[in-house]
Amino acid sequence: MDFNVLVLGSGAATPTFARHCSAQIVNICGTRLLVDCGEATQTQLRQYHQKIQAIKTIFISHLHGDHFFGLPGLLSTMHLCGRQEPLTVYAPTGARQALELLFQVSATNIDYELQIIDIDVNEPTVIHQGKGFRVTAFPLRHSMPTYGFIFEEETPLLNLRANMRERYEMTNDDCIRVKQGEDLLLADGTVIPNSELTLPRRLPRRYAYCCDTAFDESLVPIVAGADLLCMESTFDTAFEAMAEERCHCTAAQAATIAARAEVGQLLLTHFSARYREIEQLLAEAQAVFPQTICAADGGRYYIAYKK
Ligand SMILES: [Zn+2]
Ligand SMILES: [Zn+2]
Repeated sequence: MDFNVLVLGSGAATPTFARHCSAQIVNICGTRLLVDCGEATQTQLRQYHQKIQAIKTIFISHLHGDHFFGLPGLLSTMHLCGRQEPLTVYAPTGARQALELLFQVSATNIDYELQIIDIDVNEPTVIHQGKGFRVTAFPLRHSMPTYGFIFEEETPLLNLRANMRERYEMTNDDCIRVKQGEDLLLADGTVIPNSELTLPRRLPRRYAYCCDTAFDESLVPIVAGADLLCMESTFDTAFEAMAEERCHCTAAQAATIAARAEVGQLLLTHFSARYREIEQLLAEAQAVFPQTICAADGGRYYIAYKK
């Protein structure tokens, strides 16, 4: 099943025509999640043909405006478009208070069931259990309480080898049990071992999102082995001191985390508006970790099974 990320905004604090503020859609196990919601996210959702009412869960990394200011407008539009389904928002403490005040002073009604759940964790903690996947939050080192997320498939079912179902005249129940790892017991008492019936098990895929964060080696064990790591790279190496001061990363620092964590691929995002072209950032990152690509608004990035 497809597991991919549609980037809606790949810019840092100041939006440009080419790069909007942070937001992305994570498609996992047939579920559509919104991660961060900077200004203009709702127009970006329309631009890339994403049905807003199909979003049932939203994750906000932190309450800086470039990750949060699009949320009140999106929640309001969902109401105006007649939303009936409940919506759950996971966000750092303070989001509920901010939204309630804003809705009160602007006389905004939200008729659908809106549940806002505070994220307040000191170590990697599962905060959301979806259908076939789970989401873990962990703290990042930034200038306000900020959380990274890992989106992870649960152990996938085994796949049957070609023609096994027909050869052994397996029922639907047989298929389910075999896909869950059991051997097959035939009517005459013969046992067919599971390994003969199924293909080798694939490892569950993991997508890690770290935005915004300063360079922090304690991230390495947390994101280790992720198939795709999306990490902020606000600056190039010449601005390393400024990156540290503002609790952001350079491209090379993001690549250092990716290399040490032995991830499958690194996706850079959150580029400062000072960069019209980002070749320099890509080159600096690829010198450290060659499997690096740069996010673009509207780009879709697939989380592939490990070879
Ligand atoms: Zn930011
Ligand atoms: Zn920030």
